[in-house]
Amino acid sequence: MIRATNDERVKELMQRSNTRQVNVGGVLIGGGAPVVVQAMTNTDTADIDATVQQIAELAAAGSELVRITVDKDSAAKAVPHIRDRLAAQGVEVPLVGDFHYIGHKLLQDNPACAEALAKYRINPGNVGFKAKKDIQFSQIIETALRHGKPVRIGVNWGSLDQELLTALMDENARAENPLPSRQIMHEAIVRSALSSAERALQLGMAEDQIILSAKVSAVPDLLEVYQMLAARCDYPLHLGLTEAGMGSKGIVASTAGLAILLHQGIGDTIRVSLTPEPGGDRSLEVRVAQEILQSLGLRNFKPMVTACPGCGRTTSTVFQELAAEIENYIQAQMPRWRKLYPGVETLNFAVMGCIVNGPGESKHADIGISLPGTGESPAAPVFIDGKKAMTLRGENIAGEFKEILENYISSRFAAPNRTTPNQASRQI
Ligand code: SF4
Repeated sequence: MIRATNDERVKELMQRSNTRQVNVGGVLIGGGAPVVVQAMTNTDTADIDATVQQIAELAAAGSELVRITVDKDSAAKAVPHIRDRLAAQGVEVPLVGDFHYIGHKLLQDNPACAEALAKYRINPGNVGFKAKKDIQFSQIIETALRHGKPVRIGVNWGSLDQELLTALMDENARAENPLPSRQIMHEAIVRSALSSAERALQLGMAEDQIILSAKVSAVPDLLEVYQMLAARCDYPLHLGLTEAGMGSKGIVASTAGLAILLHQGIGDTIRVSLTPEPGGDRSLEVRVAQEILQSLGLRNFKPMVTACPGCGRTTSTVFQELAAEIENYIQAQMPRWRKLYPGVETLNFAVMGCIVNGPGESKHADIGISLPGTGESPAAPVFIDGKKAMTLRGENIAGEFKEILENYISSRFAAPNRTTPNQASRQI
């Protein structure tokens, strides 16, 4: 198959601008805005100290919205205090309330909570059952309207509206050519989201106050469901693979699903739902989400480090240590660089193991270093803006290379209008 030209791919990516735009506490979602990274806490929201700390950590890692569970009265009562404590620390990240079963009551009983949240997440599969469903859904929408808040109608196949699913399954069973049950399940998920959005509109919500999501836990289902949803509405879409799992399995599955959809122009905000290792860092889900977007060329969060995998030509650990040291250095310097040098996140560095691909890859980067492989002379040429600039030798290659990075960044970003040849060739 002949690949689409760059122009066609860019056009494809620009399709995201066709969605409506929703303002969530000052963060714009959809309508061509950059894809927003969000995360969710796993603390008991009633534990104000723990929740404030985790939200602050997620925000510092780059989460642009943070969702918190609001599952009981004590949690709802804690929300305004959490908001105030964060504001006192200078953390302004908008908070999203995650409601199930009794959200209508919690919001009605706790107007300060309703006000402190920037958005409410409603799950149409458990907002209420039978006759209560419409009433309780309406109550949440009315509260959102009273406080001027947008909502996310978030369907999850683990809590899919069983009445709707049963009705569609029965209808399919009576059809002349019944469809596979998985296809009916996809249709039920999509219809649940769309019919709930329709109901919210009837109750007075504006189209630019509604975000939709339809999460499933298998990548092929995720692709199918979001492609159907994107074809049938222009609400901004929140993407995520639910229950993605732990470790590399969760990261790979989320990346596989989200990357395909994002490349098709589907998705306006993402969350990577990783199960943390015991005592693990919750912020990992934020870093993975950022790396997905940066790898796709949709956003830049920090300089990219291109490092070769190493092979039999790199028998020492020097190369691995330098690659790790540079990655860690960038991570540690980013808060400072971001403030001092806007635009630094667009840089590309290369740390390569030997002469085979080292000089070539380094020339494509803003700064690259090609370390000596086994049997090569112990010298590491450094390339700046595509040209060989110097050669490092001796025990302090890492220290000298970091100094070169610092000098390059401060000189380049002190003069923001300067564009290097490498930067110009990457611009679309
Ligand atoms: S650049 Fe050299 S060390 Fe790195 S993977 Fe290629 S051959 Fe191996």
